[in-house]
This record gives sequence, structure tokens and C-alpha cells, in this order.
Amino acid sequence: MESAIGSKVAVVGSGISGAVCASFLAKNGVSVTIFDSGRGPGGRMSTRREITEDGKELYFDHGAPFFASTNKDVMALVSEWEARGLVVEWKEKFGIYDYVSTKFVDIEKEGSSKKFVGIPGMNAICLTMCREPGIETMFGVTVGTLQWLEEKKSWLPVDMDGQSLGQFDAVVVSDIYVTSPRFTAVTGRPPPLDMMLVPELAFKLQEVPALPCLTLMLAFEEPLPSIPVRGFSFKNSDVLSWAFCDSSKPGRCATRHVTVFKICFSFYHYNLDRASTSYRHIKSECTMDNGYTSGQWL
Ligand SMILES: Cc1cc2nc3c(=O)[nH]c(=O)nc-3n(C[C@H](O)[C@H](O)[C@H](O)COP(=O)(O)OP(=O)(O)OC[C@H]3O[C@@H](n4cnc5c(N)ncnc54)[C@H](O)[C@@H]3O)c2cc1C
Repeated sequence: MESAIGSKVAVVGSGISGAVCASFLAKNGVSVTIFDSGRGPGGRMSTRREITEDGKELYFDHGAPFFASTNKDVMALVSEWEARGLVVEWKEKFGIYDYVSTKFVDIEKEGSSKKFVGIPGMNAICLTMCREPGIETMFGVTVGTLQWLEEKKSWLPVDMDGQSLGQFDAVVVSDIYVTSPRFTAVTGRPPPLDMMLVPELAFKLQEVPALPCLTLMLAFEEPLPSIPVRGFSFKNSDVLSWAFCDSSKPGRCATRHVTVFKICFSFYHYNLDRASTSYRHIKSECTMDNGYTSGQWL
């Protein structure tokens, strides 16, 4: 790409990497088209809206619950987002829940390490950046193949039905999934990006793991006062990793007193083939002797 200004770039993925990249390119005069398989922007910083039978609105940040950084450049970006009202610091108490002692331990002092959340959901940053001038978005579109057209010196992304998605001077791939064997496992097709086209990257990308995980989104009718923290990791549990109370985040649209806990666990032990067994195991782990989460699940 000789001159960036006026050139056309396809960005695959509207997660934080793709959205930040698209925003940067667009601010520098590049015409950007973002493609994402998802229904909306955010990727692993997505927010999901659910309506209960009695009409309550629930919002779950089902990917990253928050982010933190000590990197100077990232923090400069975060300050900019803060000034635009896209993120805010989440000042709450966090800790560790030990399954052996059934106690919360190592409770941090409020705000002892800065944790930021998107407003009104974790997807806010990506959503806003995807709407910036110079950026076109195409959601619900999975790039199935990326072809290099030697004669035209351009890239041709093609969707899963074989339809052309246009020609671009460059393509930014923001997700390892585009080169990962997991793409084949899920779709039965070869990964979109043929590594022979980018041999210099092939070796490095092999080193990057792509591990699936599952998120359980729970809402309770009443607050759970026996939990002294708003986020915690689990010690001595081979199922659960952590849980965060999304409705305690600032600027949330949570209605009434709904408390939302998100619980993640390793997919290694509980794969989809054993989904019903896994569900029973998770539920029993969540409601263990401690009774902390024995409230009515919505
Ligand atoms: C449960 C969970 C908890 C986490 N907790 C934290 C945390 O506390 N702090 C923290 O800093 N980070 C956390 N992370 C990690 C953080 O969320 C990710 O590192 C970050 O969001 C990744 O952003 P990304 O843009 O690189 O990728 P993603 O967000 O994964 O975006 C990639 C996008 O590409 C799209 N895509 C992929 N292939 C194609 C294709 N062929 N065609 C079209 N679209 C495609 C996907 O749909 C996706 O939207 C967590 C992640 C998870 C899942």
C-alpha cells in the first residue's frame, strides 16, 4: 500500500483490536470496512441484553468483565475514552472465594487497582468506534476466505456462501480464529487465511493459543448480601474461574435490584458433548454447601 490516504482496508473483527485499528485508520484518511460474524460490535467485549418473562431488562457483559492496564499508551487511550464518557473506573471490592475454607479471602481495598468498564456496557467502546466517520460495518458476515489477487494487487474477502465482499488494498485480521484449526472444527472448512500467503506470520501464530471458554449468566431477583465483594476468582475449584456482579457496575441500565453474576469455567473439563452433565455439575458447584448463590435464578 503506497499511500494510506484514500486506500481501502478491510478489518475482520469488531472486537477491541479491530475497532481501535479501524478508528485509527479512518482518522488517517483510510476508508475502512469492518466485517464481523457477530450481530453487533464488541467480540469478547460484548454486552448481551435479555428480557425476562415479566419484562425485566437484563444486561450481561459476557466477555471481559472489566479491563486494567499499566501500559502508558493504552492508558492514554483509556483517558481519552474516559473523557468521552465511554468508560469509567469500577470502584468496588474484589476478592477470592476459597472452596476449601468456603470463605472469601484476600479482599482488596476499594479501588486499590484501577479497573475500567464500558458505559453502559463493555461493548460501548467498540460500538462508538465502529460508528466513526470513514468506517462502514457489516455485521452477521463471516469472512470464509481471503484471496490475494496478484494481478490487481488487492485482497478479496469472500463470505461463507462464496459471495465477494469487495476488493481492498489491505486486510487487517484481528482474530486468531481466521487462521486457527478451530475454524475447521466449527465450520468444517479450512481457515479463511491460507498461511502460505503470509508465511512470515505462520510460525508466530501457531504459538498463540485459542482456547474456548463458557460463560454462565445468572440473574437473581434480590441482591445477595452474603457476598461481601462485587467480583471474585475461585480458589480450589476445578470448574469455576471467576464471577462478577455486572449490575454493580457504574452506569448500568439494570432495572430494579437484579443482581447479575457471570461465572466462567474451563471448557477443557466440560465439553459440549457432555453439556447436560456439565450443567448439573456447574449448578451444584454454584449452589454448594455455602448457599451463597442459592437465591432464585431468573
Ligand atoms: C470470559 C472472558 C473474560 C475476560 N476477562 C478479561 C479481563 O478481565 N481483562 C482483560 O483485559 N481482558 C479480558 N478478557 C480478554 C479480552 O476480552 C480479549 O483479549 C479482547 O476482548 C480481545 O479482543 P480482540 O479484538 O483481540 O478479539 P475479539 O474480541 O475476539 O474480536 C474478534 C472478532 O472477530 C470476529 N471474527 C473472527 N473471525 C471472523 C471471520 N472469519 N469473519 C468475520 N468476523 C470474524 C469475531 O466475531 C469477533 O467479534 C476476557 C475474555 C473473556 C472471553
